[in-house]
Amino acid sequence: MNRAFIESSFSILIMLAFVPLSGGSLGEKSNETLILAGNYWDGLADGPLGPAEVLIIDGKIAKVGKNVTHNEAAKVIDLSGMFLMPGFIDSHVHLTINPDVIAALPTYSDAALTLAGINACKILLHNGFTTVRDAGDLSINSWVVPELKKAVASGSIRGPRIICGGHMISALGGHFDFGGMLRAGAALDQVSVAEGVDGVRRAVHNEVRHGADWIKVAGSGGFLSPSDGPEDASYSQEEMNAIVNASTDLGKPVFVHAYGDEPVHRAAAAKVRSIEHASMASVQTLKMIAENGIYVVPTQMALVPVARDAVNGTFDPKEPEWARQKDLKYAPQILESSRNLAKSDVKIALGTDVGTFDYSKNGAAEFSEMVRNGIAPLRALKAGTSMAAEMLQLNDTGIIALGKRADLVALAGNPFENMSATENVRLVMKEGVVYRNDVK
Ligand SMILES: [Zn+2]
Repeated sequence: MNRAFIESSFSILIMLAFVPLSGGSLGEKSNETLILAGNYWDGLADGPLGPAEVLIIDGKIAKVGKNVTHNEAAKVIDLSGMFLMPGFIDSHVHLTINPDVIAALPTYSDAALTLAGINACKILLHNGFTTVRDAGDLSINSWVVPELKKAVASGSIRGPRIICGGHMISALGGHFDFGGMLRAGAALDQVSVAEGVDGVRRAVHNEVRHGADWIKVAGSGGFLSPSDGPEDASYSQEEMNAIVNASTDLGKPVFVHAYGDEPVHRAAAAKVRSIEHASMASVQTLKMIAENGIYVVPTQMALVPVARDAVNGTFDPKEPEWARQKDLKYAPQILESSRNLAKSDVKIALGTDVGTFDYSKNGAAEFSEMVRNGIAPLRALKAGTSMAAEMLQLNDTGIIALGKRADLVALAGNPFENMSATENVRLVMKEGVVYRNDVK
């Protein structure tokens, strides 16, 4: 891709991001809106709460009840045939990744990653995600995601509210060191590669300096990196503790990518706030995670179906042989650990890892995937709303209650009866603004 092409595509995309969908009300901020919901769930209750009226003033929930008083001029949205619930929260997305980018990252410019990010933001909001946490900025030595966050917040592009995880701080040769993709001996200057107590401390400060809200760490190898395995621990306990100490000094929580039991255990011992994947954690480690009040973001739709297929001898034909061998080797452990997670008391937040798989796949399928792996429907729904907000320390979203932001979705079905209803979003509202309306 040449520079002129990238620049012209960029301006076209920026223009498209401004164009409202046909149907009028999109992007229009009405002062007072009354939603008539056929059925609703507030993000906390044990089940659906029946019909309700929700009054929204200046982007916030002002009243919830059976028959609320309101201004005669309030704009009415009739969702009498719909199920209303809080907007979804995906705590593990990669806005600047898609599978093509992963395959050849060092050849991608920051402009190309920005374009991928603008597209990802648009799709996520359309699918009902009103808040997301980015789990790893793919720009090698700049910061794209904080710019996307600002652009969404200012209204210049449409997308969910973004919590920035910065780059995934990684050991040399670890999960987020892309230098191994280059020919032997070629150097790649990457801000995310750091080792030793002083090195990781400096990396934490550098991420925060450039706008990271959370500190993301590659605590183990992975499935998408050829030179390391998901059981390999990338950092010593001393380095992991140093990362948490440096982050805590700056008031930033830490989230750690870890698959194998040992790296998951190290992250838990360092008292990080959330562990991502944790897909091969033992029963004992899950118990320790629960006791320490650490959250797990299990990203099951990206992993568990692949493990199920591998056990049955089915593989993605595009997958290289080394990846197939990893799937085969670890599938039984992944399936066992997912059953143990469902039986545990661990606080679970929904995350998809979208970006590592294509954005054409709706991340709301994670709700159903969690239920398929034994997680109770109520726990799965909370994972993608109130529990995620609690983990992210956002006390203004994730539930439908007085004074909270009007981040809402309307579904064509009741997810307590059939969880795939979460993939059938008909209306999306973020802070009182309707971004999608297929109801009228
Ligand atoms: Zn990820």
